[in-house]
Amino acid sequence: MTFRAPVEDILFTLKHVAGLDRLIADGLAPELEGDMADGILEEAGRFANERIAPLNRVGDKHGSVLKDGAVATPPGWKDTYGEWAAAGWNGLTAPDHFGGQGLPNLIHTACNEIWNAASVAFALCPLLTAGAIEALEAHGSEELRRLYLHKLVSGEWTGTMNLTEPQAGSDLAALRTRAERAGDGTYRITGQKIFITYGDHDMTENIVHLVLARLPDAPSGTRGISLFLVPKRLVNADGSLGATNDVRCAGLEHKLGIHASPTCTMVFGDEGGAVGHLIGEENRGLACMFTMMNNARLGVGAQGVAVAERAYQDALRYARDRRQGRAPGRSGDGMSPIIDHPDVRRMLLDMRARTEAARAICFLTAEALDRAKRETDPERRKAAAERAAILTPVAKAWSTDVGIAVASTGVQIHGGMGYVEETGAAQHLRDARILAIYEGTNGIHGIDLVTRKLPLSNGAAVAAVIAGMRSTVERVRAANGPGFGRTAERLGETVDALDRATAWLLEVMAARPADALAGATAYLDLFGRARGGTALAEKALAQGEGDAAARIAVARFFAEHVCGDAPGLARTVIEGGEAVNDAASLFAA
Ligand SMILES: Cc1cc2nc3c(=O)[nH]c(=O)nc-3n(C[C@H](O)[C@H](O)[C@H](O)COP(=O)(O)OP(=O)(O)OC[C@H]3O[C@@H](n4cnc5c(N)ncnc54)[C@H](O)[C@@H]3O)c2cc1C
Repeated sequence: MTFRAPVEDILFTLKHVAGLDRLIADGLAPELEGDMADGILEEAGRFANERIAPLNRVGDKHGSVLKDGAVATPPGWKDTYGEWAAAGWNGLTAPDHFGGQGLPNLIHTACNEIWNAASVAFALCPLLTAGAIEALEAHGSEELRRLYLHKLVSGEWTGTMNLTEPQAGSDLAALRTRAERAGDGTYRITGQKIFITYGDHDMTENIVHLVLARLPDAPSGTRGISLFLVPKRLVNADGSLGATNDVRCAGLEHKLGIHASPTCTMVFGDEGGAVGHLIGEENRGLACMFTMMNNARLGVGAQGVAVAERAYQDALRYARDRRQGRAPGRSGDGMSPIIDHPDVRRMLLDMRARTEAARAICFLTAEALDRAKRETDPERRKAAAERAAILTPVAKAWSTDVGIAVASTGVQIHGGMGYVEETGAAQHLRDARILAIYEGTNGIHGIDLVTRKLPLSNGAAVAAVIAGMRSTVERVRAANGPGFGRTAERLGETVDALDRATAWLLEVMAARPADALAGATAYLDLFGRARGGTALAEKALAQGEGDAAARIAVARFFAEHVCGDAPGLARTVIEGGEAVNDAASLFAA
């Protein structure tokens, strides 16, 4: 169960696939010149391997517990969090005038993967704090930023995201938590939120809740939602801590995985109303919260990569140790290590290829976000922002599906030992399962991709992404190097399939929305395979350090095995809606 952060592969992917080197060459990331990125990631890897990874099992076994109205995290959690924050890891991308280091999102996403591979339950807390920092920086008043951002950036305080209520999950229009104007510029918040990650804990002395609520005179639906900052402890004008606010954790969920991450029922306003401060404008809260949610979506995508990486490392180690049967071509009496069996090798290759593809997609999304922020030319900024908008649902949903699939294959490679808890393979699968549900279910992300992202710039934005994939296919075809096998052929078919499905969706969306929506998940899967497969091919074509033959082998496997189904997926998108919608009577109430 030893974990080693895959720093070498992360750096190679950042530089040669996601365009970190180009970002630096274009003068858009001067702070990373030289071997700065290498130094940061190696140090992050060391901290994750030595300090966080050993907590993963402890956290799973103990879980967080609610005692006398307060949540206690598992043994070792608080000290390690303190060391992690003191080392400055929390403020990597935060603005330097609030104590951060202002580094590109690419570095943040890479580090985020490393922390989450060491322990998802641990790294989920800073993942949410990062989103709160971004939302507060973008939309908070000067006073709120002055009082809260330094402590959030340093990690001395953590942030939460309070959206969900029993009747309002995917559909936030239904939320009922109330906010009343107090007459002094503050608000009083009353209501109940459920499933709030790290809503309470003992790792820091204050927690900053970002809460969606409705004013009494607010319009109905999503246009009547406002965003409030509600601290656990009130903060005085000089920044010191004041009284405890009227907010408490009323219960903790017992759940399938991420046991150490407390999932809290939060009650606001039992004693008259929790003091809240408006972020942004009244009734415009959802737009502000989207800043936080977008940040968290890529973060959750990276969690999928992280769990997959850890599951792969464990499965590889086990497959080398465990002996059963005799592999083809082996003679003698002894049993072969299971890694010599072609079917086990297939599973390992599948785990590795999907993990590396998802990693590349997450980094490509981070790069688009960086360019959208740092490019000086407005046209290029717009193009990057649209690319980021298209890739974000793919990064979130495809990578988390990869996390679950890879963790499941990891259990399979362990045989019966994977199903019992001893080896840790089962924990990866349990931990991964939530990733497809929170931060918007993967189904909702498929719908977002199809209905909101494909129409960007009248389809020109998605066409540009597909054109980029096509040029990669041509480069593989031209290289035609040894070891590539049918990579160009299969990737070409995959990009053609994506093109067909995209054109069909753009054409029928308005007239046949039910058919288009029925194909959204298959479309997102097809998109992930196309972008993941071409990314691995770009990696295989890149000249650079490391094992070039291994990069080609992984790209080839992905193209020939994972992309083999692509034409079928396009058919499902285009033809499959009718089969779903014609069967509506099966589920009639
Ligand atoms: C461990 C954990 C941690 C969480 N952390 C947080 C947190 O920190 N903050 C927070 O606010 N929330 C948090 N959540 C809540 C989480 O974000 C929601 O569970 C999620 O958004 C889904 O909402 P729901 O559970 O109400 O499911 P529902 O919205 O009821 O969805 C049920 C099913 O219906 C589908 N569905 C729903 N609407 C549509 C539609 N319009 N079209 C097609 N399909 C649809 C969904 O895809 C899903 O498959 C957490 C949840 C868990 C379990």
